Amino acid sequence: MEFYSINPYDGEQVGKYTALSSVELDEKLHKSGEVFKSWSQKPLSDRTGLIKKAGQVLRDNLEEYAQMITSEMGKPISESRAEVNKCAWVCDYYAENAIAFLAQEVIETDAKMSFVRHDPIGAVFAVMPWNFPFWQVFRFAAPTLTAGNTGLLKHAPNVFGCALMIEEVFKKAGYPDGVFQNLIVHHDESEKIISHDAVKAVTLTGSEKAGSAVAQIAGKYIKKSLLELGGNNAFIVLEDADIDQAVKTAVTARMLNCGQSCIAAKRFILLEGIYDEFVSKFTDSVSKLKSGDTTDDNTQVGPLARKDLADQLNKQVKKSIEQGATILLGGNQDECFHEPTILGNVKPGMAVFDEETFGPVAAVIKAQNIDEAFSLAENSKFGLGTTVFTTDIEKALEYAERVSDGAYFVNELVKSDPRLPFGGTKLSGYGRELARDGMLEFVNRKTVYVK
Ligand code: NAP
Repeated sequence: MEFYSINPYDGEQVGKYTALSSVELDEKLHKSGEVFKSWSQKPLSDRTGLIKKAGQVLRDNLEEYAQMITSEMGKPISESRAEVNKCAWVCDYYAENAIAFLAQEVIETDAKMSFVRHDPIGAVFAVMPWNFPFWQVFRFAAPTLTAGNTGLLKHAPNVFGCALMIEEVFKKAGYPDGVFQNLIVHHDESEKIISHDAVKAVTLTGSEKAGSAVAQIAGKYIKKSLLELGGNNAFIVLEDADIDQAVKTAVTARMLNCGQSCIAAKRFILLEGIYDEFVSKFTDSVSKLKSGDTTDDNTQVGPLARKDLADQLNKQVKKSIEQGATILLGGNQDECFHEPTILGNVKPGMAVFDEETFGPVAAVIKAQNIDEAFSLAENSKFGLGTTVFTTDIEKALEYAERVSDGAYFVNELVKSDPRLPFGGTKLSGYGRELARDGMLEFVNRKTVYVK
């Protein structure tokens, strides 16, 4: 079986990749288990030294990696560079903090000594999406490998070139062969991989459908799973907010990565008193975004990663208009390109309110009061994060308990940061990545008791 990656900006083929044979896949799975035996025994300081080097390799080859991201999935080059730099940051972060995170936790009991050890578990299988093709992998790999596990990656086929480069980062950094392996396989191989003895857990970032399929297989074989799935984040603007700052943040929160982000703000819930001012300034700012050649440093909006994604997005826009939404800006699609679009008069029950829109489409919703704003925000099957803009921080902190999401950001867009736990609730998945939480997801928290 062959896989092709196509540049969505110009339709050119970037790469052609041949699937592993069944024998080759078996060999890699076996190797992952074998290498684990020695890798997990290495002093932690060796592993922190290697992840530090991986960060350096990323910085040394930043331009090459950024070009591959842009070619394969169409992100503007300035954003691709930022993505590679963020991967280097997460490597540095775990190089500096792993020793503290994995330290034994002493617990006073009636024993002479009792504590929790953090031991690696084996091979962890990662199924990853194309939208942040380097970042999604590094935020899993940096803590998981440093904890002493081995890693197996099944990336999205439209970014298999990125996947090969990521494998190369670990090779260049000096990791033992087999600690991190890229698998060029169809997702139909998931059961074979997850059921293998060497594989102890699976982590998936992607859609609800893929998450459910993989979690079912993991459940069948009683293996741990972590799911980072879709989102439909609310961005609430209260009447006392700094509107200019809220608008500036809203534009980035929705349009970064051409809107193809799980944690992008998708539903803008505006209090009646500031609705007109916000909508007018937001529409003006979005209309000024520069779209065009993805390799141009000044381009802010590129194509979507594939035509089927643009088709799906435009279908949601059209359906919402039929359901009563009004076009405030954009609305059109041309092949992989979708105009930055703002829809007004959006209400629950419309496609752009109920479903995740994975592209540059903002849904604007009016709320009569604060209670209604939070209740609209909560009216979602997803639970990744909510933003609220207000100058009353004390009140904002009180509102935190009304939000059932995995994150609540005040006067800032919901973003991932190596130092903060990241993950969702409801259909956005379970488990946490990043910070200490992310490192402890794939270790055996072993209780030790000495009488
Ligand atoms: P996707 O279609 O679910 O693909 C994600 C990965 O899952 C790909 O490697 C895909 O491989 C694989 N996959 C799909 N169906 C599978 C199955 N039945 N069994 C095993 N693997 C399967 O998602 P996407 O369109 O690439 O990414 C967009 C989605 O990811 C959005 O919903 C977005 O919100 C979510 N996302 C979430 C986060 C987060 O942190 N919560 C971050 C980024 C993206 P194939 O392509 O080969 O099918």
